[in-house]
Amino acid sequence: MIIDLRSDTVTKPSKQMLEAMMETQVGDDVFREDITVNQLETRIANMFGMDEALFFPSGTMANQTALKLHTNPGEQVICDKYAHIYNYESGGVSFNSGVSCKLLDENNGMFKADDVLKAINPADYYYSKTSLVEIENTANRRGGTCWDFNEIKKIRMVCDENKLGFHLDGARIWNALVAKNETANQYGEVFDTISVCLSKGLGCPVGSVLVGDSKIMENAIRIRKIFGGNMRQAGYLAAAGLFALDNNIDRLKEDHKKAREIGIVLAQLPIIKNVERIETNIVIFELNEDVSLNDFVNKLADNNIRIISMGGNKLRMVTHLDYNNDMHSILIKFLKNF
Ligand SMILES: *Cc1c(COP(=O)(O)O)cnc(C)c1O
Repeated sequence: MIIDLRSDTVTKPSKQMLEAMMETQVGDDVFREDITVNQLETRIANMFGMDEALFFPSGTMANQTALKLHTNPGEQVICDKYAHIYNYESGGVSFNSGVSCKLLDENNGMFKADDVLKAINPADYYYSKTSLVEIENTANRRGGTCWDFNEIKKIRMVCDENKLGFHLDGARIWNALVAKNETANQYGEVFDTISVCLSKGLGCPVGSVLVGDSKIMENAIRIRKIFGGNMRQAGYLAAAGLFALDNNIDRLKEDHKKAREIGIVLAQLPIIKNVERIETNIVIFELNEDVSLNDFVNKLADNNIRIISMGGNKLRMVTHLDYNNDMHSILIKFLKNF
């Protein structure tokens, strides 16, 4: 048995999910005739109280489409320095949209409305025009942390006052909703566009969705086509999404609980310098300077436990649907005896 804590993307569809996929009805989504895709899009649009939703093969493509919808070449996006759109989308911001990023490094990634205000470029022609603010919830590289919704509302006001778009990278928004007892609808009220992943904590093999109101989403399907993201009988994948929305949201609590329990044990180990605050399913911790990161990771690997390094002396563990109670007991016991 391998205990794989590298990411919540390593999950495989369960038997029940595969059955739901097999039993669904499909059509050609390029003709918009796949009833399961249409159903998933309508369902997610309704959850967020927005007009339109569009199914994507990846979160990266959903984000890149949103960036394109909100910007013109030469303009600038305000985001955290560890934002996924800046760090992990292969430079797509500049490649696809021809925009630059104004990187903030405030308050562990949860910058404030004031920080946004200060980051907006003056109107003089020789500055790049600021056109979009982007945030991530939960914030991946910031340890799965959740934003304070009140601050998000304040940032919305700054966006309104300065005619900026506001995009949420909600790859793990489900984790935030469960952890903070919030609703999708309240997020729909403050953002212009939101991307969500079905293939992280929700356990689907593939799939992301971009939601927004009809005006901004009008061009989304054309951009998806330009990016090569049109699919045909994608309903099989959408069926996994519908199954996950019914069955896999509430249970994220269990992943969060396990992550906290891992954090408590790690914090007691003498070789560990620091465990970052755990709010959802991501555990980031740092080894003491005199401990070799490779030795630590290899020792875990020798015991069939897989985790990844985050650079520096930091390591990451992510709990998920396929990290079950038995694995959790084994890991806790292993760490206690480390
Ligand atoms: C995983 C992830 C994405 C999307 O990634 P894909 O692998 O393209 O689906 C976007 N943003 C964040 C914060 C993520 O963790």
